[in-house]
Amino acid sequence: MRKYPIGRVRDIGIIAHIDAGKTTVTERVLFYTGISYKIGEVHDGQAIMDWMEQERERGITITSAATTCFWVPTNIDKTDAKQNEYRINIIDTPGHIDFTAEVQRSLRVLDGAVVVFDGVAGVEPQSETVWRQADKFKVPRLSFINKLDRTGASFKKSFDSILEKLSSNAVALQLPIGEEENHKGVIDLLEMKALQFEGDFGQRVEKIILLDEKGEPCPEGRELVSDNLLKEAKKWRRNLVEKIVAENEKILEKYLEGKEISVEDLKKTLRKATIEYKLIPVFCGAALKNKGIQPLLDGICNYLPSPKDLPAVKGINPKTGQAIERKADDSEKFSALAFKVAADPYVGTLTYFRVYSGSLTSGSYLLNSITGEKERIGRILRMHAAAREEVKEIFTGDISAIVGLKNTQTGHTLCDEANPIILEKIVFPEPVISIRIEPKSRADQEKIALSLKKLSEEDPTFRVKSDLETGETIISGMGELHLEVIIDRMKREFNVEAIVGKPQVAYRETIREKSEAEGKYIRQSGGRGQYGHVWLRIKPKEEGKGFKFIDEIKSGIIPKEFIPSVKKGVKEAMDRGVLAGYPITDVEVALYNGSFHEVDSSENAFKIAASMAFQEAAKKAKLVLLEPIMKLEVIVPSKFLGDIVGNLSARRGKIEETKDRLNMKIIDAKVPLGEMFGYATTLRSLTEGRGIFTMEFDHYEEVPQSITQEIIEGKRH
Ligand code: GDP
Repeated sequence: MRKYPIGRVRDIGIIAHIDAGKTTVTERVLFYTGISYKIGEVHDGQAIMDWMEQERERGITITSAATTCFWVPTNIDKTDAKQNEYRINIIDTPGHIDFTAEVQRSLRVLDGAVVVFDGVAGVEPQSETVWRQADKFKVPRLSFINKLDRTGASFKKSFDSILEKLSSNAVALQLPIGEEENHKGVIDLLEMKALQFEGDFGQRVEKIILLDEKGEPCPEGRELVSDNLLKEAKKWRRNLVEKIVAENEKILEKYLEGKEISVEDLKKTLRKATIEYKLIPVFCGAALKNKGIQPLLDGICNYLPSPKDLPAVKGINPKTGQAIERKADDSEKFSALAFKVAADPYVGTLTYFRVYSGSLTSGSYLLNSITGEKERIGRILRMHAAAREEVKEIFTGDISAIVGLKNTQTGHTLCDEANPIILEKIVFPEPVISIRIEPKSRADQEKIALSLKKLSEEDPTFRVKSDLETGETIISGMGELHLEVIIDRMKREFNVEAIVGKPQVAYRETIREKSEAEGKYIRQSGGRGQYGHVWLRIKPKEEGKGFKFIDEIKSGIIPKEFIPSVKKGVKEAMDRGVLAGYPITDVEVALYNGSFHEVDSSENAFKIAASMAFQEAAKKAKLVLLEPIMKLEVIVPSKFLGDIVGNLSARRGKIEETKDRLNMKIIDAKVPLGEMFGYATTLRSLTEGRGIFTMEFDHYEEVPQSITQEIIEGKRH
């Protein structure tokens, strides 16, 4: 049986630019939700205090990909607590926004987010990137302006920077009471109450009514809130109410007639508008000083969507290719998306997944609709801040981890066997950059292989392969920084040192014309010989379509058992490359003729013959090199625009658009990755350190002839 109605489930992420306070906010959230949970169970004040001390000392940290906690919104009568408890699943989002895979997979499975800002810095350039990623996935969100206790903090400035740079839909739900060292609490603008956080850990929220029924100031609030602040608060409230009522015609009409709109109606309208991403409620406080977290938790329950508030999830039926939908309902057929595979030191592989429809009991079987294999669902775990709980049954909207799945990877769909669906996939870009690494000592050799294997299982955009000729290991990823972090993790988490080569662009090769060729591998010098003989026809395929192999052999000219070896030989030759040693892609290969020998033919001989034939055919099919083109966004003060554009043109960049924002210029461009090494340093020196950029893979494009030659001769990255 389901313990929490789906309407009281929240699947959220806390996202922020590094240093804004994501970790501190998350810790406080887990701390206060932990207290609320304990209060539900123990009624002895001392026990709660002891527990809090322990938790404090231990320092709660969030280490799993998803952590579950529980919260009863503050204004609900505590005697009713259990009936009104919400389950909040917090999905971990990466601190660094450069790794699109990490960001995408977490944004894909969450229903809402809290974006944390630094109250001194306001919107920082990198927070814009986070914000836009969330826009791409249409994630409803709240904002939290943190660190209002710091010197230089300003709620108003930070709020204005959100309005200006991110969204004109932001609405302030609170005002701080005092800033910098005078930061004491917050005013709830809807209820017009002053909130103070009392007790050793700010664990009690005291609400002081600021206005009486007639709208006159109450004496209780006077001590905390000055006349001036109260006046400000009334002004902000009017603004807030106007923005909210504009979202509902009926309420707007009433409001325009001069009637009072109840707080309840305002909250309802705000909730709907937030879920539809028409308004973005803004909260504030200082996580480190235990201020503002409980109202933020209330906000998560009150304004962010539950799984059933969102449109049905879309997918395709793998049998028919037809588009299908699954509603967020326990009675629907089961579907879930695996969004993270993590290696756990205690239990082995943990596959985190989100249930989109239906329910599941442990011990049953599911279909992985991507691999087509059945998987037995053994243990299911739910992660809490301090413990993991084994659960027997899970429902729509749940986020948990399955132990020990073998072949399910990030992005795979798990579903009911009889009713298969492939949920919209998380599309991961192919790696665009590679580095050769070598162990520092022999002892490190094995450890390197092991650590890289683990890391690549966790991260679908990180790949490892070994160069058969040199025995070196080549790792590939999404950018210089991505690989640097991987190498650093190898050192820290697995204690292996490696010698690291220069980064290399992941070029590809492809063909532009059709051709055919023969491959013969025949050795007959005493004893058992070798005999493999094939004819291949190859032709270009559309970009991104990969490799297709067609077997056109009739009446056993080549026996069936050798056909897979032919395909393997072709594949190996493609991976080795023909023009400059880069993998060949987007080719259709047909095996249409050949011959065999009763005694001497072997799988190996056919493999070699096929490789030879493919190489010959490729050479005649107008081979070209392809290079990754990156989408680049540079933000610089206006006066540097000319220099930046000039520099990008010298890097074979194409400027697509330049936009203005305040006194900054935003430049969107497409630039070959091969020209972008060391760009961070160049940008810094061209802009006196004030420019920033973000870059992600866009597509592959043919390399100009003159440059192709340099690449072949090894004169370029
Ligand atoms: P993250 O990188 O976003 O996870 O940020 P952290 O939570 O690690 O915070 C970065 C730094 O800011 C740490 O030194 C925190 O102690 C500090 N910090 C976080 N919240 C507050 C706050 O409300 N007030 C002040 N003064 N410092 C804070």
